[in-house]
Amino acid sequence: MGAIPSHTDIVGRFAPSPTGRMHAGNVFAALVAWLVAKSQGGKIVLRIEDLDAERSKPAYADAVRRDFEALGLLWDEGPYFQHDRTEAYRAAFDELRARDLVYPCFCTRADLHATSAPHRGEKPVYPGTCRNLSDEERMARARERTPAQRLMVPDERIAFIDQVQGPYEQNLASDCGDFLVKRSDGAFAYQLAVVVDDAAQGITSVVRGVDLLCSTPQQLYLQRLLGLPHPTYAHIPLLVAERDRRLSKRDHDAALDALIERFKTPAGVIGHIAGITGLAPTCDPVTPEELLRSFDLAALHATFPDLVQLQWR
Ligand code: GLU
Repeated sequence: MGAIPSHTDIVGRFAPSPTGRMHAGNVFAALVAWLVAKSQGGKIVLRIEDLDAERSKPAYADAVRRDFEALGLLWDEGPYFQHDRTEAYRAAFDELRARDLVYPCFCTRADLHATSAPHRGEKPVYPGTCRNLSDEERMARARERTPAQRLMVPDERIAFIDQVQGPYEQNLASDCGDFLVKRSDGAFAYQLAVVVDDAAQGITSVVRGVDLLCSTPQQLYLQRLLGLPHPTYAHIPLLVAERDRRLSKRDHDAALDALIERFKTPAGVIGHIAGITGLAPTCDPVTPEELLRSFDLAALHATFPDLVQLQWR
C-alpha cells in the first residue's frame, strides 16, 4: 500500500534532545515518525527538546538538523525550541495549580529511593509522602529547600491503544503515583512540556521509543485536565547494544559519523537500519521516499521482529 492522501491533517514530529550526536536509535525513531506521517499525507514538525539546559548544547541542535537533512528526513515546520516555551509551560502549570491539583514536594532523591519499590520494571511509584502536609509544614520546609511540584493523580484506569504495542493501561495512582510537573531547580518537567508542545504544534501522531510507553498515561491525563486533544501513539522497539541495554552515545559504532563511514551514503545508513528493524526486506541502500512506497501503517506492529528490543548490528 502506498501513500494515502488524507483530508484530516496528520502532523507527526521529530523531537530530539540535543545532548549529543545522533545515533542509529534516533535515526530509526525519526524514520518511522516520518513514514507514519507521510504515509497518511501528513507533515512533520521538528522540535528541539532542550528542556534540560545543562545537558543540551546548541552545537548538537545544529548537528541534529544537518544529520536529518543529510539522511533525507526532511521536516515541514520548525524547528521549535523548548527553551522558547517557558511561558506556555508556566500558563499550563498555573492553571493546574489554580485548580488545587498541584502540591510542593520536598523529597530528596535519597528519600524517593528509600520509600519506593520499583514496580513492574517501570519507574518507582511515588508514595505520596508530601501530598498531605499542612500549610504550616509546607512553609517551614520551604525555608530549607525549594520544592519540586507534583500533580495529584486519580485512582482510575487510563487506557489507550498503541499503534504498535496494542492496548495499554495504567492506574496512575498505583502504577505511577503523583508525578512531577516542575522540578526543584525550577525547570518544568518533561511530561508537562511535551503535552503543552504537542498541543500547541498541532501534533496528531506521536512516534517514539517504547521506553516512553509508561509515560503516555501521564500525558493523556494531563491532556484531559488541560482540555487538549489526544494524539495517536506508536511506541517502537528500542535498538539495543546488548540485551536490556539500549544504544546510547557511548556506542560509537552507532553514531552518525561512524554510520556514514561504514555505509558510505545516507541511503546506505537508512537501508541498514531499515533492514535490521524489519522496515525493509534487505539491508540494501534505500531512501525514505523509497521505503514509503511499501510502508503500511496498519501492519506496522507486524513489521518488527520484536516489539520491545531490536539488536543493533
Ligand atoms: N526528546 C525525547 C528523546 O529524544 C523524546 C520525547 C518524546 O518523543 O516524547 O528521547
